[in-house]
Amino acid sequence: MALRTITVLGATGSIGRSTAALLEGGGYAVEALVAGRDAVALAAQARTLRAKLAVVADEAALPALRDALAGSGIEAAGGENAVLEAAARPVDWTMAAIVGAAGLASTLAALKRGGTLALANKESLVCAGPIVLEAARASGATLLPVDSEHNAIFQAMVGAAPDAIEKIVLTASGGPFRNASLAEMRAATPEAAVKHPVWSMGAKISVDSASMFNKGLEMIEAARLFPVTPDQIEVLIHPQSAVHGLVQYRDGSILAQLGSPDMRTPIAHTLAWPARMDVAVPRLDLAALARLEFFAPDTIRFPALRLCREALVAGGAAPCVLNAANEVAVALFLARKLGFLDIAAVVEETLTELSHLPVPDLPSVLAADAAARESATRIAARRAAA
Ligand code: NAD
Ligand code: MG
Repeated sequence: MALRTITVLGATGSIGRSTAALLEGGGYAVEALVAGRDAVALAAQARTLRAKLAVVADEAALPALRDALAGSGIEAAGGENAVLEAAARPVDWTMAAIVGAAGLASTLAALKRGGTLALANKESLVCAGPIVLEAARASGATLLPVDSEHNAIFQAMVGAAPDAIEKIVLTASGGPFRNASLAEMRAATPEAAVKHPVWSMGAKISVDSASMFNKGLEMIEAARLFPVTPDQIEVLIHPQSAVHGLVQYRDGSILAQLGSPDMRTPIAHTLAWPARMDVAVPRLDLAALARLEFFAPDTIRFPALRLCREALVAGGAAPCVLNAANEVAVALFLARKLGFLDIAAVVEETLTELSHLPVPDLPSVLAADAAARESATRIAARRAAA
């Protein structure tokens, strides 16, 4: 039997490395691995996985990639077009794990080609949901959610008729500032914000977890993926991160998916789907855990939840504008040029300026994204100077 062919977009990141760990078990033919600019890590991964092609989005990193691949027989390429060409190569399974709206074009290229797309890159669904879903529908591609909450809900929804569903619940660990005061949050450093109590993740999503923008983006992601309206999506703080998502049905039944907080489980679910594969993650020990707690989130300290819900209900350009403004604000916060609480303030002000923009097609989504980045940069500079 021919080996399943695989491409990983965002291969050197947190999700990309967890994916590579599963692929190392063998039984796959890796077509392409794509990263931003970390040429050395990408080349090492390409050698281990015997990939055919390795691509860096940043062309300036191509000479380093070529050096690191010398003598391996692995093809090297660089630049945005090379990323799209790699994403469009026919394979059975693609992991979309580039961070941010930067992953949108390659997510679309992979979907247009067909096959299975394991989607970790939630920002592409947030900023261009209808376009991403239409690309999947048109090609007949299978879109499987990797985000742990959505993967959990997908599993708990198998075989359900849409009208049987009453609501879905996304759980959130609460992040590093779950019990912090507003004063502590105002003074928070990037080091404190990325120090997640449960999950080990990339810097951007770690800050999003601290601000709860991650859960807000996930509400929008859930509204795209599942047959629910915004008022059927609930968020609960669950510090143990054992229950990842729940589906409540009309008859009062609640189905949930539980597991260790380790992304290899949801990634493996999408890799083996509809079958299951062996994964050597620590098993959830419920007796050792003893308690599962759930709390309503605090929307005063975490305005991100309100902003994301408002953007979801408003529709149009609002989710795209919100996502772009958040990306800009998070990058400035990580560079120590913006306070932690200013992230939500910058997003809110950018939304007020731009959420009316029409977004009927991809060029207008990209234009709204660019306009939001410009506004957010200006608004953040003004706040930082104040
Ligand atoms: P990360 O920062 O660890 O990795 C990002 C990857 O994308 C790296 O390989 C980087 O080189 C690459 N990249 C960055 N910019 C690029 C560009 N312009 N072009 C091509 N490649 C580029 O991020 P992560 O934590 O792995 O998250 C990746 C995505 O998965 C995000 O959308 C995140 O929200 C989502 N996600 C992550 C987790 C997690 O546990 N880390 C869980 C759920 C969802
Ligand atoms: Mg998640």
